[in-house]
Amino acid sequence: MKLEAKDLEKIKEIAVECQAAAEVPFFLFAFKKEDTPQFEIKFVHPAHYDKICKDLFLFSVNPLMEKVYQTQKPEQSTNVLQGLKNLMDRMDIEGAVKEFAAKTIGVIPLVLEQDVAGFALFLSAQTSDRHLRLVNAFIAQMKFYLMSRAGQRQARDANSRARMFLEASPFAFFTIDTQGNHVYVSPGIEQLSGYSADEFLRGLVKPEKYIHEEDLQKFMKFYSEALSGQKGEVDFRLIRKDGNIIWVALYSKPLYDVEGKLVGVQAIERDITERKKAEMELETNIEKDQLRTEFMSLISHELRTPVTPIQGYTDMLVSEKVGPLNAQQKDCLHVIKSNSKRLLDLIDSVLDISRVEYGKPIEVKKEPVSLNGIISEVIDSVKFMYDQKQVKLELDLSPEIETIMADEAKLSRVIVNLAGNALKFTPKKGKVFIRTSKIGDDLQFEIEDSGIGIDKENLSKIFEKFYQVDSSYTREAGGIGMGLTIIKEIIEAHGGKVWAESEGLGKGSRFIFTIPLE
Ligand code: ADP
Repeated sequence: MKLEAKDLEKIKEIAVECQAAAEVPFFLFAFKKEDTPQFEIKFVHPAHYDKICKDLFLFSVNPLMEKVYQTQKPEQSTNVLQGLKNLMDRMDIEGAVKEFAAKTIGVIPLVLEQDVAGFALFLSAQTSDRHLRLVNAFIAQMKFYLMSRAGQRQARDANSRARMFLEASPFAFFTIDTQGNHVYVSPGIEQLSGYSADEFLRGLVKPEKYIHEEDLQKFMKFYSEALSGQKGEVDFRLIRKDGNIIWVALYSKPLYDVEGKLVGVQAIERDITERKKAEMELETNIEKDQLRTEFMSLISHELRTPVTPIQGYTDMLVSEKVGPLNAQQKDCLHVIKSNSKRLLDLIDSVLDISRVEYGKPIEVKKEPVSLNGIISEVIDSVKFMYDQKQVKLELDLSPEIETIMADEAKLSRVIVNLAGNALKFTPKKGKVFIRTSKIGDDLQFEIEDSGIGIDKENLSKIFEKFYQVDSSYTREAGGIGMGLTIIKEIIEAHGGKVWAESEGLGKGSRFIFTIPLE
């Protein structure tokens, strides 16, 4: 930060006034040379001007001194140059005092914004109290001047920064008086609305002209509340001068004078079209998702309706309430029964798939249910298919676990799916093993098969949406790769975990899930 020419003039003025009052015989001002720590003498008391300026040009000096020195023993040496050099080179103030035969020396660093721009030095042969007070007053006056200059500069800088911000800002700033006249409009309004600040200031842009008719009422309400001193915010569609419509947000705050009287309103307006678009898109997506889910649940309900009596009548036939059956007929009915159960599962899966696909959580209704009851029902429904493929299904169920807190239908689907996969990926005459155990406060369910196995790389991927291991076996087996994704969602909705283990291809697989018992 540099002192300006008018600062130098002012400093000289103060010095000359003080000199006249205090009869300071000698003073000088040294100023920092640009980009160097050296100081250049810019002003010397006229009485010494010739002498000093002939021989002294630059000094290296530590200017951070601000002191008034007083000595009781004036000596008669008047080697001003030597004294000055001593002072500047070595900061030898006491020595300088002797050289100057001065009784008082004042040194003031001329500091602006923490930067030393120069220093003022003055000497006197007198040491009366009055004189000392005058020198001190000089220092105080000089400091006060420098401080106020720094303050003015800061205020000026802040002002120009604020103006730059207003001019470059994509926002528009307004000041409106209590009658509703625009008193100030920032240039940003032109970019925002197409109308110039001047058009607003001259009252040429009426709300009816630039506010969308559907938002006009809301805007006028906001406007009259703002003019009555309320702080607020409003969103509305603004019709630009070129006819394009944008969304803007307007924020306003009352403006008071020093006596606390309402004198107007300050407001900021900004373009929020992008945000509004994103919000509207989100709303439409939510609406679409809702429609889709409603449609899916309607369809699944419609599909379920005819399956329920098929199951009921099959049960009635199997129970032989309407007549005895031979073994072959019973087998046929079991096929119908297990397939109609499978159809219901598929219908539920379709609903879950659509939920999972649109990022909606699967809902579970936890109730106390018998785990072994669910497992034996699942086995009943798949047994026929296992028998057909001659895959042996063995159980090892923990006697420790009776009821658990779970959604019966959903948990049953998890187990049906895992048992179905185990069968699907196990060649004829293989083995599947179901085991349950209590681990801490959790149920652990395992289903192990002697099937095709899964390589390490695919162990976690198979839980991703629509992921199927690329093999001829998978292709032949069919499916869409959503079963395990839904299983994972259901288990996690129960507060549990599911994962797969396998020693590698051809070495069978093990699927394990845990869920809290309570
Ligand atoms: P889908 O059975 O419809 O393909 P899943 O999500 O149930 O879908 O399974 C995804 C993939 O995980 C299957 O395509 C298969 O590659 C693999 N997989 C699942 N269960 C087993 C298993 N028991 N043994 C070997 N691979 C399996």
